[in-house]
Amino acid sequence: MALPATPWPPAGVPPVDARRHALAAAAFGLPVIPLTRGKLPAVRSPHHADHSPVRCTGECGRAGHGIHDATTDPAAVLALFAAAPWATGYGIACGRAPHHLIGLDLDVKHGTDSLASLRLLAREHGFTVPGTVTVLTPSGGLHLWLTGLPGRPVANSAGRLAPGIDVRGNGGYLVGPGSCTLHGVYRLAPGPVRPAPAPGALLRLLAPPHRAPPHPDLHAVGRPGSCAPGSDGVALIRFVRDSQPGQRNDRLFWAACRAYECGLGEDLAPDLTDAALGSGLTERGARATLASAARHVAPRAPGVAGAPDAAHRRISLDGRT
Ligand SMILES: [Zn+2]
Repeated sequence: MALPATPWPPAGVPPVDARRHALAAAAFGLPVIPLTRGKLPAVRSPHHADHSPVRCTGECGRAGHGIHDATTDPAAVLALFAAAPWATGYGIACGRAPHHLIGLDLDVKHGTDSLASLRLLAREHGFTVPGTVTVLTPSGGLHLWLTGLPGRPVANSAGRLAPGIDVRGNGGYLVGPGSCTLHGVYRLAPGPVRPAPAPGALLRLLAPPHRAPPHPDLHAVGRPGSCAPGSDGVALIRFVRDSQPGQRNDRLFWAACRAYECGLGEDLAPDLTDAALGSGLTERGARATLASAARHVAPRAPGVAGAPDAAHRRISLDGRT
């Protein structure tokens, strides 16, 4: 049964009716996917039973490719929710036309005053944070929505812009208002209902970092306990980014262990986190896995790192086990 698309923001829709909120967001031009209570893409990968990782972003024609499924077509939205009746929320794909949505995720945990950080950043770089769509998260944080520009990609990042501020850009997604998660409901705050354009100075700060060539140490192969042949940073990041559901954590852990063994864990952590977010891992999950990898390697680093534990040793860089 098709529900009529409601205008944005949806009036009279119960705060917890993810499907109708998702349809309203789609009608406003925001591509959506259903999410689980854990804020992960809800439609299972059609490749979950495959023996080796499949690099498919939907070319197979089936649903279940995470953010690649995101759509504004109401019939397709309904089909995605029908394929995942357990969905209690929805994600909004950032960086896509027509809005090229950018999300600033302002954290309030760990005593950070991320709003103050944002104001300071704005003052330093000479821009004003515009009044815009604001979503209240269950943890007391805020998501500010801004529109970007075509041809001006925005990188996903965690804490790189300023303390307590994470950025959702191309390949990332925001939990939409009206989503119910394990930690509570995401709600639209009173105020503007149209995302404001991101100031130019902010867009410049949000541009993807220049990719440095692989660190020379990454090629220091043959040193006992050092980096494995071929485990350069770019390959590790790609390895994490290409993870399919069911292997994301293992792959992130493996890649992070290699990075920490090379003494580059801290350098590569932001990129590995971005890649993990892009693959659909939650930020909390990615951070926990990175911390676990650091602890796992720490007693043996630097220079004396041994083989990883058996569970993770079975995964090789090209994905074969
Ligand atoms: Zn596929």
